Amino acid sequence: MVSNEELAELLFPEIKTTIADLEARYPLRNLPEGAQVTRFAPSPTGFLHTGSLFTSMISYMTAKKSGGVYFFRLEDTDTKRTIAGSERDLIDQLAHFGIIADEGYFPEGDKGAYGPYKQSARAEIYKTVIKELIIRGRAYPDFCTPEDLDAIRKAQEESKVLPGYYGVYARDRNLSNEERVARIKSGVPWVIRFYSNGDHERKTKFVDAIRGEIELQDNDTDVVILKSDGLPTYHFAHVCDDHFMRTTLISRGEEWIPSTPIHLDMFRALGWKAPKYAHIPSIMKLDHGNKRKLSKRKDPEAAVSFFLEQGYPTESLLVYLMSIANSNFEEWTIANKSFDLAKFPFSIKKIALEGALFDQDKLNYFSKELIARMPLDKEFEQVRAYASAYDPKLDAAIKADPAYLKAILNIEKDRKNPRKDYAKYGDIYPLIRFFFDEEYDQILSGGLPFKEGVGHDLIKAFLSDVREKMPFGVDEPTWFESIKSIGGAHGFALSNKEYKENPSAFVGSVSDCAELLRVAVVGSNQSPNLHEILEILGKAKTDARLAKVIASL
Ligand code: GLU
Repeated sequence: MVSNEELAELLFPEIKTTIADLEARYPLRNLPEGAQVTRFAPSPTGFLHTGSLFTSMISYMTAKKSGGVYFFRLEDTDTKRTIAGSERDLIDQLAHFGIIADEGYFPEGDKGAYGPYKQSARAEIYKTVIKELIIRGRAYPDFCTPEDLDAIRKAQEESKVLPGYYGVYARDRNLSNEERVARIKSGVPWVIRFYSNGDHERKTKFVDAIRGEIELQDNDTDVVILKSDGLPTYHFAHVCDDHFMRTTLISRGEEWIPSTPIHLDMFRALGWKAPKYAHIPSIMKLDHGNKRKLSKRKDPEAAVSFFLEQGYPTESLLVYLMSIANSNFEEWTIANKSFDLAKFPFSIKKIALEGALFDQDKLNYFSKELIARMPLDKEFEQVRAYASAYDPKLDAAIKADPAYLKAILNIEKDRKNPRKDYAKYGDIYPLIRFFFDEEYDQILSGGLPFKEGVGHDLIKAFLSDVREKMPFGVDEPTWFESIKSIGGAHGFALSNKEYKENPSAFVGSVSDCAELLRVAVVGSNQSPNLHEILEILGKAKTDARLAKVIASL
């Protein structure tokens, strides 16, 4: 007779640690009552997905609000999907959003007492637990080839039973240890499977922190826990890691709900208390009238980099994601006049079950509000960083004259109802290009949009007078009075009311004469505050532009 101990020793001779050693190495955390230990556990398979930013933000906020710990674990056991170096990008991008782990994997080295935080460095831990499961008869080597598994699947199809490696269909679960040892010794490749005691005729229940009680078919599948490459599967790594890292709340994507019975089955087999789960709804998209998950392949907005390239401030995206997470957030921002996420009483329980539809208009709304309220220096630094990475024209303009750009960004900013025309920094250059002479000349050469029916002689006469008489360096009312009086001399009504009462007595209203000046200087009949624009351009530039317009008519 070969005992389980002998089998375990044959499979894992190098493992000398026990589960008890691990329990001692990773003691329960000494945290105040209610403090949550949460984590973000991505696989390094490429870019930061918008849904992952959402999940990590929720994990981070939950830990911070409760005075707990948020850690980062790198799940790099699927070596085929791993993209070298992408973990650094993930960590950098999260840090850019202020989501910095208290402990976890960092490219420059782990931080924290519950590591290693990279799964590929935790083989000893997984094998220790597996060795003990084998001794307890709750794990076993499986020698099936892909063809064997195919044959089992076909047999199940024919007998119309549920597919999977369970019960009588789990071919190798009841092999004798003698047979196992013989096969191992003769070099037959193996994986390790969990020995489930579950029954799919029964139900298993758990309480999800977002969804309340969830009842699912119990697990009875003997899932693979250690692959032939010596690395664990997600299911087993999750159970071991979140146990020994002392996670209290697993916030992860809702696609893991169906696997939860497997995880609970393993926690039961190991005699460990399972952490709480919070399955985060996916962000959805409307596609030809159908709701579907944001897709890496189809939707550019599935990648966080898409927003950064367009120049959305990181705060805008976080604030938008918070509005999806807690539907009372927007109301709160109005009542509290604050977009400070640290002050918002975020609650994981208030996450809506229905995956929210991604709504760029809503993102733009929040972003405009945030940019408008941002202190000028901060906005300028963000615009500068954005421009240097993504917007060469804006970058050149800033480098040529930073103070000029800062003055432009400051237009209608420092007031109770600041201007809200930029949703993202990529919107800026097209809206301000008229400030730069070369761009202005280009606009001018395309023809200026003066109001139809206003004679060129009148425009020329009015603008000539403006060149001569318009004051600079005065306050807005004084400036406007002068425009009015110059306009008045050319037959414009002094007030809109006067004009309305008797339009035929005038060549236009006071607004019409301000518009002539606007079109001449800006090249468009729309712009923010004209007085501020004129002050930024200054007398010389303005004068040169008016001269050019007059000459062109
Ligand atoms: N590595 C898994 C994923 O990227 C993590 C799921 C979890 O948070 O447990 O989906």
